[in-house]
Amino acid sequence: MDDKQSLPFEDDKKLKDHKQIGQEMELFFTDEIAPGASFWLPKGMVIFKELEKYIRELTLDAGYLETSTPIMVKSELFKQSGHWEKFGEHNMYNLVLSEENDESKALSYSLKPMNCPESTILYRFRPRSYKELPLRLMEIGRLHRREKSGEVNGLLRVRQLTMDDAHIYAREGQIFDEVSNILDTMVEFYKKLGFEPEFRFATRPETRAGTDEMWDKAEETLSEAIKKKGIQAGDKKGDGAFYGPKIDLHIKDAQKREWQLATVQLDFHMPEAFDLRYINEEGQAQKPVMIHRAIFGSFERFIAILTEHFQGAFPLWLSPVQAQIIPISDKHINYAQKLLGQFKSPGIRVEIDGRAETMQSKIRDAQTQKIPYMIIVGDKEEQSGSISIRTRGGENLANQDMEQFLDKIKQEIAEKV
Ligand SMILES: [Zn+2]
Repeated sequence: MDDKQSLPFEDDKKLKDHKQIGQEMELFFTDEIAPGASFWLPKGMVIFKELEKYIRELTLDAGYLETSTPIMVKSELFKQSGHWEKFGEHNMYNLVLSEENDESKALSYSLKPMNCPESTILYRFRPRSYKELPLRLMEIGRLHRREKSGEVNGLLRVRQLTMDDAHIYAREGQIFDEVSNILDTMVEFYKKLGFEPEFRFATRPETRAGTDEMWDKAEETLSEAIKKKGIQAGDKKGDGAFYGPKIDLHIKDAQKREWQLATVQLDFHMPEAFDLRYINEEGQAQKPVMIHRAIFGSFERFIAILTEHFQGAFPLWLSPVQAQIIPISDKHINYAQKLLGQFKSPGIRVEIDGRAETMQSKIRDAQTQKIPYMIIVGDKEEQSGSISIRTRGGENLANQDMEQFLDKIKQEIAEKV
């Protein structure tokens, strides 16, 4: 993120940050009992799960296979991958543990700060053939990074994060198609949420693993992919990962702040460090290329950004409560209950506000909760079997046909508008 940019709006003061919105809408919070980690309330978990479902749809449809690897592994893995030295052991959570209290058998373990090295262990599970490549392994993995306490900030900068990660093992000739498909998926995903994605090409950093020859090849391949694909990518010189160059996706939010989110990285180093191989058509062992990619980066940070961008008024498909039924008085509760069932059966997230409050105050509360649709039911609606709808934007639609409205809302959810 670019911390230096300030909000350009005059009414900036009215904007709330994700921490405040998270509390008010009962989505998530942090607590000093777990610095840098987030607690997810049921409504926040709805958003988390919807994003998870969408990312699974996008990736499993594209031929990815879902995997999971351990959170705690022996530190030697990160020494082998180069993370221990380049990422910094002080940026990881390391524990010295002994088996059965035998100090002579004490070993250093680490909580994984990224999934990549363990992904190579999945790859090495058995000998691989060229026929299996490209092998696309995705993992929604929980990571721990020892961010400095002064840098921890709500859900934007956390010590425990969940990453929508994937590693693709491919032959060199397959890189273009893979990178190209990943870029398409990123654009589709961000456009769906109303963002205009921009790309940046990040090249070799000063501290890096691998030989210059490796870097030349990796940068050339990625720059070729950018050219062939016809995308405009700005430069981020020296900002590549320590193991390879990358293309990052940036977006601007409603407050014109720029965020770096998705990334695709090309890596010739890790296949070398872990001696990964596949057998080609001639029966010879070859080295695959590893492509790292993430669409959000981290669920926590991404949800924080979305929360501030939408100021809690999430798109319908992400809204924790999609419709609130508001009976005008107690005598309309039965009709409200009947409607509740009709909304629930196609899977719409709906609630009844059955409190003994005035209709106006119930509407105000639903608006504070940024619920997209309020369904007002009173005598008129009950007699005619219709509903009156009020949107969170203040639009009023009286005397609506229930079935038609259900079809409309179902379609909006399915299309993620
Ligand atoms: Zn990776």
